[in-house]
Amino acid sequence: MFTYHVQIPAVVTTVEASMDYLSPVEMPGGYTSGSSATSEMAVVSWNQLLLYPKGWGSDQIQVKPSLKIPRGWQYGTALPLAGKEIGGSGAPPPDGAIEFAQASLTTVVDSPVIIGAHFKAIPLQQGKNPPHELDVASDSDAALKLTPEQTQGFDNLVAEAGALYGARHYRDYHFLLSLSDHVAHFGLEHHESNDSRLGEKYFTDPGQWKLGAMLLPHEYTHSWNGKYRRPFDLATPEYETPMQTELLWVYEGLTEYFGFVLAARSGLETPQDWRDEYAEVAMTYSYRSGRQWRPLEDTATAAQILQQANEGFTNWRRSVDYYEEGALIWLEADTIIRQKSNNQKSMDDFAHLFHGQPDSGPMVKTYTFDDVVNTLEKVVPYDWRGFLTDRIKKIAVKAPLAGIENGGWRLVYTDKPSARMTTAMSIHHHVDCTASLGFTVSTENAGIEDTVHGGLADKAGIGPGMRIVAVNGRKFDGPRLVEALRNAVSDKAPIQLIVENTEYFKTVSLDYHDGPRYPHLVRDSSKPDLLGDIIKPKVTTLPKAKPEADVDED
Ligand SMILES: [Zn+2]
Repeated sequence: MFTYHVQIPAVVTTVEASMDYLSPVEMPGGYTSGSSATSEMAVVSWNQLLLYPKGWGSDQIQVKPSLKIPRGWQYGTALPLAGKEIGGSGAPPPDGAIEFAQASLTTVVDSPVIIGAHFKAIPLQQGKNPPHELDVASDSDAALKLTPEQTQGFDNLVAEAGALYGARHYRDYHFLLSLSDHVAHFGLEHHESNDSRLGEKYFTDPGQWKLGAMLLPHEYTHSWNGKYRRPFDLATPEYETPMQTELLWVYEGLTEYFGFVLAARSGLETPQDWRDEYAEVAMTYSYRSGRQWRPLEDTATAAQILQQANEGFTNWRRSVDYYEEGALIWLEADTIIRQKSNNQKSMDDFAHLFHGQPDSGPMVKTYTFDDVVNTLEKVVPYDWRGFLTDRIKKIAVKAPLAGIENGGWRLVYTDKPSARMTTAMSIHHHVDCTASLGFTVSTENAGIEDTVHGGLADKAGIGPGMRIVAVNGRKFDGPRLVEALRNAVSDKAPIQLIVENTEYFKTVSLDYHDGPRYPHLVRDSSKPDLLGDIIKPKVTTLPKAKPEADVDED
């Protein structure tokens, strides 16, 4: 962001510079512009601590970093240590200073370090090469207690990813996992590690575990899809050249798809939760009114705006839809390949061709839209160019649900949310009436988060930012709203809401009698269960499932 102009006399051979970095105070969201440190742990992102000479590519600049960490803390990183070819973890030398090997600026910036007082390093696929490790730093020792089934899930993830891609492109791999309620929550991919951040109780609270299932499989997948294979115009020689983002439906959309697949194959997500999550995605994009004007590719092109955009009006503006809608489209591609090959081929074959052999250290192989089409053609001949053009480049008013239907399942709505959706609504403190009244509302402040553009509430004059003060004459709360929806099935009177809009109140009548509507996938027995085949483990066995009742009670 900043350039320092330094006049250097010819006789000078060395310049010393020092710089302070001000770590953001507790602040949610915003990736690494949010908080990355608590009194007990931190994530050190080198890109925030750098001065480097202008005029060279980041591969050409060599750096030899060192890092001094607080007494008693431990660390984990994929950045190669001095005298070693790979990263490591554990206690630093007695003076607290970790010395790293000389590496390119590209590698250093791509290799953050997690540090903490409460730290655990868990080897995965022990004894196999390359080495893998889950390095967890948290705000308490209690947060580090994984069950054997959870450890097995992560262990399976490494094995299943190897089977999916058929090769690896790193020297060693570190899952750097921060568990804290005081750092920004997100996942950020790197070639030989990922910086993933979840709540302190991720391992110990079944709800947090359920909702966080996808994060590590997603970020890990990026080592292949994003870091090794990268859209040609997302690969820039240094950090000043702007990236072009129109292929994010591959970079993120396919990562979302394979992340989903690996979460289920490894047992980090149960098959039921996996289908329930797909049902939620299918509902969201079925009601996404912005499809009427905005092609999916345009959400990728506008990524830098949409990543930061406000939640209000997401339904009409669209958001970073290339993630989840991408997952629907790649699911459809998988089912087409399976149908055309008598279930002998699948997106696994695409992954082998596109992301696989030979094994290598970190490197970047760029690709174009044509490369994606040509690789799909190699797996199974089909009009893949037309398929992708229709779904990605053109306006597609209907959501791409054919993958679910080809896969032997149907999207239906019932008046009872799935266990996963119940958990999601509870943790996110909102009631989801997308498929009924056409809005989502916060249960913390009664604020309308968003409305379905053209839906019942929108047409009646309810918009994001307004507050529901009362439901049928009584003060709003979440259960009361759902109760009103249920009663309206037999009651002929409309649902009456008192709505506050910037200090002005109005009464809104919603003539709605279909009750609560929540998405589920149900089996269509006239077709083979391809979804079941897609999520079957290839090389591991699923961890023993805990009874679902345990999850609901907590
Ligand atoms: Zn991603």
